[in-house]
Amino acid sequence: MRRGGRAQARAYNARMKPPGGAAPPDTSTPRPARRPAAASWDPPRADDDLATLLARIRACRACAAHLPLGPRPILQAGATARLLIVGQAPGTKVHASGIPWYDASGERLRDWLGLDKRVFYDPSRVAIVPMGYCYPGRGRGGDLPPRRECAQLWLEALLARLPNIELTLLLGQYAQRHYLGAAAKASLTETVAAFADYAPRFIPLPHPSPRNTAWFQRHPWFERELLPVLRARVQALFAPSGTLDLPGGGGVMTKRSAVHDIVLQRAYAEPGAHDGYRVLVDHFWPRGRSKDTLRLDEWARELAPSADLIHWFGHDPARWDEFRRRYREELAAPAQRERLQVLLAAAGSRRLTLVYGARSETENQAVVLREALMALE
Ligand code: SF4
Repeated sequence: MRRGGRAQARAYNARMKPPGGAAPPDTSTPRPARRPAAASWDPPRADDDLATLLARIRACRACAAHLPLGPRPILQAGATARLLIVGQAPGTKVHASGIPWYDASGERLRDWLGLDKRVFYDPSRVAIVPMGYCYPGRGRGGDLPPRRECAQLWLEALLARLPNIELTLLLGQYAQRHYLGAAAKASLTETVAAFADYAPRFIPLPHPSPRNTAWFQRHPWFERELLPVLRARVQALFAPSGTLDLPGGGGVMTKRSAVHDIVLQRAYAEPGAHDGYRVLVDHFWPRGRSKDTLRLDEWARELAPSADLIHWFGHDPARWDEFRRRYREELAAPAQRERLQVLLAAAGSRRLTLVYGARSETENQAVVLREALMALE
């Protein structure tokens, strides 16, 4: 299976301390010579609400010295979420995008679940909390195991603030061994095959990576027996809300969104040869940048957050989740949806590059705008 063998997973979990508390970060992994970085994290406090806790996690640098691409915690969670997806750790593509499951594995996972991106990336419905929140680097056998500091420092506090989770999907051995403990079988295949034993709270799954295609071919029962159960459980979670499309009244599958190539770029980075259609999405022109240097096709100023919302947000990480929610609301207005459609039509088959001036690469309006564009039907 992908990302380390069974022995690696056992060793990982044997070292895993119970989650919660401010346990010191692991220092057993050799420190890469090129990236000296101070470990720092602001431990969770009892009176933290979810938004505050997420802001602390996103600022975490507990194992910065061990992360070849630096800390970039990638997760999503809302207090009303009913489905929790626990994967392993971001790969390089997800790290670059800042969006969980923004890769081929995510496409397959959404297909398994019968969820489109609109629902999948809605934190009020789906929480995505992998075992490791940052890209851990690469070893000889593929990506390294998820950093165990994430669970040690954050998981207990996080789960305590997700009181509505009814179903937890455990993708891969690390998640299964952590959440199922001694109830996990000797191998991932055996655990997945015994999925009925863990109902109704958990469903163990293999990692949906294309690298596991041989596993799927060797175990046709997975598609025949487990996937229908998985889809039915997800349907039961979301269908009552009336938000999912049920073609013919009999299924759980939702319409697939068109897949668009949408990337983000800071206004202070140099334009590239493959940027496609370049659009500035800020309300204000980026200071010190000329029209020539930005090489824009369009300035979509009307799609930027309202002036009130920009002022309220002030790029305060503690306000990020609420900002994201409010901005999505603004973008859901009919006039804005139409503008989004027009923007996609203008880009056509070209890559769409959303240009923004904010310092944060992960918490800025372009991130939200891309989500809205990707969720368009
Ligand atoms: S991997 Fe987890 S513990 Fe380490 S810096 Fe990222 S969020 Fe913090």
